[in-house]
Amino acid sequence: TSRFGDIAHGPSVEVFELVAKFNEDTHPSKVNLSVGAYRTNEAKPWVLPVVRKVEASMAADETLTKEYLPITGMPQFCEAATSLVLGADNPAIAEKRAGGVQGIDATGCLWLAMKFLRELCGANTILASNPSWGNHLLMFRQLKYEDVREYRYWDASSKGLDLTGMLEDLKTAPDGSVVVLHACAHNPTGVDPTHEQWGQICDVMKAKKHYPLLDCAYQGFASGDLAMDAWAVRFFASQGLEIFAAQSFAKNFGLYNERVGNLTIVTATPDALERVKSQIKMIIRGMYSNPPAHGARIVNTTLRDPALFAEWQGCIKTMADRVLMMRAGLRKRLENLGTPGTWNHITDQIGMFSYTGLNPTQVAYLVKEYHVYVMKSGRINMCGLTTGNIDYVAKGIYDAII
Ligand code: PMP
Repeated sequence: TSRFGDIAHGPSVEVFELVAKFNEDTHPSKVNLSVGAYRTNEAKPWVLPVVRKVEASMAADETLTKEYLPITGMPQFCEAATSLVLGADNPAIAEKRAGGVQGIDATGCLWLAMKFLRELCGANTILASNPSWGNHLLMFRQLKYEDVREYRYWDASSKGLDLTGMLEDLKTAPDGSVVVLHACAHNPTGVDPTHEQWGQICDVMKAKKHYPLLDCAYQGFASGDLAMDAWAVRFFASQGLEIFAAQSFAKNFGLYNERVGNLTIVTATPDALERVKSQIKMIIRGMYSNPPAHGARIVNTTLRDPALFAEWQGCIKTMADRVLMMRAGLRKRLENLGTPGTWNHITDQIGMFSYTGLNPTQVAYLVKEYHVYVMKSGRINMCGLTTGNIDYVAKGIYDAII
């Protein structure tokens, strides 16, 4: 007998479970619309050519060693990543009150910020959008926030943003709550506030002294334009708020398993920035000591070399444009089939995901009858669509609904 024999099994994680089922499925027309990763029009993962190129030069560079990085990561990378999200000419950078700490991708950066706010700032209420990326709530609980809340976000009737509900929920939360906001390309809904709406959100955040924690997983991937996708982060910083922004390089560099992220921090004073960083450094030291270097080197080299940077922007555009094309194509097909309901939300939504409005029964039908793998919430990854399977998927959705 084991002393762990009575431990309850942890729940499975839906998206990983769906991928496993998809891999086991032998149906020739199967389609995976679940996991949040880019696919080419051949439904294959894509290592960006610019990444291959930088990796080849790294492999040949004998000056690169496997020595430990500093606890807070590679300083040049953190600097370049901070400039990328805030804009190199952001006054907060010149004023030395903006900086970064390397983290284990956006997930790890979110964790660092949440832990810091919980343990060193006494924050005890934390909010995520309803719905949100599932990992947010898991982290809130693991970090022992006692008051875990959701703010209204998705309006099922308009298939858009419930701004009134969102503002109300932010207002009724206790002052000084931590609020996780999706900087762009909201996961899972694909619905982002307009600039004007961000203004209203920011006003409430400020009045309530909430801590903004911006989850920035899709810069460049959403619209194809790095500045446009960073707009909300830059706006918050420009309004005099002290912010955390968890940056991912998983999607925009296709570096999913390298786990390279940067926690951008903007404070009111340079002194506060150093204090915050010094405490986050202790959190890292106690948890994993220091981060890996490979992905950070790739990103840093690319961001600092104008030719490589231009090449990378081309790759981002390729990915974003393919998603836009699939959105337009799916909407057109659903409309041409006369699928009940309205389908403008498919092209109105932005980023990798679309919240289709399919209910769990319809999703189950799609999986069973069409071998099209979709999350129970009806979220689909647009990247799973290709010119080869889009007619088939549209027909499946039509059949599931009628
Ligand atoms: N936040 C959001 C909103 C996401 O969609 C994702 C990826 N699915 C992440 C964070 C985490 O990404 P990573 O840790 O791979 O950077």
